[in-house]
Amino acid sequence: MSLFPAEYLEARSRYRAFMDEHVYPNETAIEREDNDALALLAELREQAREAGLWAPHVPPEAGGTGLGFLYYACLNEEIGRSSYAQLVFGCQAPDAGNAEILYLFGTDDQKEQFLRPLVAGEMRSFFAMTEPDVAGSDPTLLQTRAVRDGDDWVIDGHKWFSSGADGAGFAVVFAISDPDGEPHRRGTMILVPADTEGVDVVRPVPVMGHAGRGWNTHCEVRFTGVRVPIANTLGGEGEAFRLAQKRLGPGRIHHVMRWLGQMQRAFELMCRYANGREAFGGPLAEKGTVQNWVADSAAEIQACRLLTMDAARKIDEGSEARVEVALLKVYAANVLVEVIDRAIQVHGARGLTDETPLARMAMNARAARIYDGPDEVHRMTAARRILRSYRDGEGWTFS
Ligand SMILES: Cc1cc2nc3c(=O)[nH]c(=O)nc-3n(C[C@H](O)[C@H](O)[C@H](O)COP(=O)(O)OP(=O)(O)OC[C@H]3O[C@@H](n4cnc5c(N)ncnc54)[C@H](O)[C@@H]3O)c2cc1C
Repeated sequence: MSLFPAEYLEARSRYRAFMDEHVYPNETAIEREDNDALALLAELREQAREAGLWAPHVPPEAGGTGLGFLYYACLNEEIGRSSYAQLVFGCQAPDAGNAEILYLFGTDDQKEQFLRPLVAGEMRSFFAMTEPDVAGSDPTLLQTRAVRDGDDWVIDGHKWFSSGADGAGFAVVFAISDPDGEPHRRGTMILVPADTEGVDVVRPVPVMGHAGRGWNTHCEVRFTGVRVPIANTLGGEGEAFRLAQKRLGPGRIHHVMRWLGQMQRAFELMCRYANGREAFGGPLAEKGTVQNWVADSAAEIQACRLLTMDAARKIDEGSEARVEVALLKVYAANVLVEVIDRAIQVHGARGLTDETPLARMAMNARAARIYDGPDEVHRMTAARRILRSYRDGEGWTFS
């Protein structure tokens, strides 16, 4: 029996057909990140829209084609196989997470000004939370300030790792608006058009030697005397921590859903290569070490799938599933890194070249153990909640 309803699988097969025809054959061209690559992406996005495959992370009333978390999980096992497909289908980070909080917490005016063009793919966005000078793991330390001045906020601060800031239309800025307040009520999220005076996208910060371009960047950004209307407050003053949780929880599952596709692609490449390549009198597939890698990877990938479906189902039923999401994020990030690494090892030197997608996948994968909260922090928060359940009540239930 499949993990997903038949209609979800039918939708997935349409994404698969589109990827076979339009995405995989164009991966190398997109990876060049030149003007031709951008034109090609625009063309592919238009084709995806015409095929009814656009924005599956949000429902039709928000401008997408989504049917909930489980549906999106099902599709993402396919979409996630290519590093570029989320962009083709209009559901790339950080826009997908930003669209979700705008959909949930935005006013009608904010939805018209920011959400509609974001989901339509007319503009991109960035999420400006992490700062170079304080530990991003502990957002109570953030220093960017928002001060009320009449009907405006005035924002001053220094951010980095603002993914996609190069060329984006607006930012969701996490700023401290009440420095003396209760630690988790100090922050406010504010929508800032990128062309506002005082917003300076300083540079794309090279990550593992790759600076990227446009959607593919992680930028340093300075906000100096940036003035926007109080009406640009997202979800209310002092609500930034609550919104961040709302954004990052589902956002983490979005990442894992994509990683499932990456893991399975690496796994397939490993198995095919092991069957075809011979050394010391027989195929690599007959070596015990390789067989162990294949067996361990198969078990770990399926465990990730089941943890994902479990968390997605609970979220669709209205739970925040915080422990489940935290454990899933840590476990899946490590499986992702490990499976891709095994696949590279089986390929020998070829695994490090651009003859396979593995090297690029490995570069992207390593960051998974850090972004949206490092492994250590998720382990800590999950363990604390589990231990508290034993202190305060009947204990943790594996439901
Ligand atoms: C590719 C990429 C994209 C990103 N995109 C964005 C984005 O779009 N917007 C944004 O705002 N941010 C983004 N980030 C930033 C990311 O969310 C932060 O890097 C992350 O929250 C960790 O913060 P930090 O880097 O300041 O590490 P720190 O908080 O300084 O932590 C450093 C290390 O300390 C250890 N540590 C921390 N706490 C504990 C603990 N309790 N117990 C044990 N060890 C601990 C961990 O090993 C951690 O890796 C991105 C990061 C990457 C790599």
